[in-house]
Amino acid sequence: MELRCEGCAGCCVDWRPLAPDAAGSDRAGRRPPLDDTYDLVPLTRDEVAGFLDDGLGDALVPRLFEPAERDAVVSIDGVEVAAAGDRPVFMIGLRKPPKPVAPIGTDEPRWLDACVFLDPTTLQCRIHDDDRYPRTCATYPGHNLALDAETECERVEAAGGGDRLLDGEPPTDLPAPAFGPQALGTTVFAYPDPDRLDGTIDRIRSGSLTADDRARFVGAAVGSRPGSLSVDRDRMAEARALARDADSWAGRAIREWTERAGGDGDPVDRDPEDRERLVRYLEDDAGAPGTPGWGE
Ligand code: SF4
Ligand code: SF4
Repeated sequence: MELRCEGCAGCCVDWRPLAPDAAGSDRAGRRPPLDDTYDLVPLTRDEVAGFLDDGLGDALVPRLFEPAERDAVVSIDGVEVAAAGDRPVFMIGLRKPPKPVAPIGTDEPRWLDACVFLDPTTLQCRIHDDDRYPRTCATYPGHNLALDAETECERVEAAGGGDRLLDGEPPTDLPAPAFGPQALGTTVFAYPDPDRLDGTIDRIRSGSLTADDRARFVGAAVGSRPGSLSVDRDRMAEARALARDADSWAGRAIREWTERAGGDGDPVDRDPEDRERLVRYLEDDAGAPGTPGWGE
């Protein structure tokens, strides 16, 4: 597998407003998500716990699913969601606030939803290769290649974003996929108290989950036991409190970007120096790890 990622960030950004026909959709699978986040990065339980330990619980968000045919279901707010037994299943991913970015080989920065860890200036990942770098990102698009499924890199190519997938041979050391029965308690979790989720479905659909909503699910993910539906209640409560109290540069940047953003896909009304200054102020100076740039 060989990729050319410079100037792309196609797997970190919701670029649907730029090329609606070429971009894929997270809603196409057998269990469409309830939210509309593009390319959510599913995290393992240990990765979620790692972000929490680093005070980054406010960078995390849950995802619930519509049921596939013959799935167990649980009704929340009158909406049926996919379940394992009597518990709604969910994943935890990284939040994607609007940021001023020019991805997939474009020149003009636009307001697009982008991973909280994407440096909008360099289009590089701020946690690349560090302890928090998610397995999903480190191995992308290996699983797609192994399954002969379309990759984001090829979608970017189809949208005119340049040559991206230079060698499509899948790596031989891929970890287990994030979905499937083996993922229960590892990347797919089951929420133990569905009767406490009143109002959550509307907030997931409208992208307006509260810190407490997010913390509930983060807690349940960290309290989960791999291969099982059971949850360690003490561990869950401790993780929930940590997530609810998190106040990191990432959470603050998400709030600031969301307040300042123009409409989805709108051009950014700032000159390049001013945009870079704002990125430095809201992210780098606030504690975000730097990125090196692409060099020569
Ligand atoms: S963690 Fe890094 S590589 Fe993964 S989606 Fe976010 S910015 Fe992209
Ligand atoms: S879509 Fe492919 S080429 Fe583009 S940044 Fe992601 S992995 Fe790299």
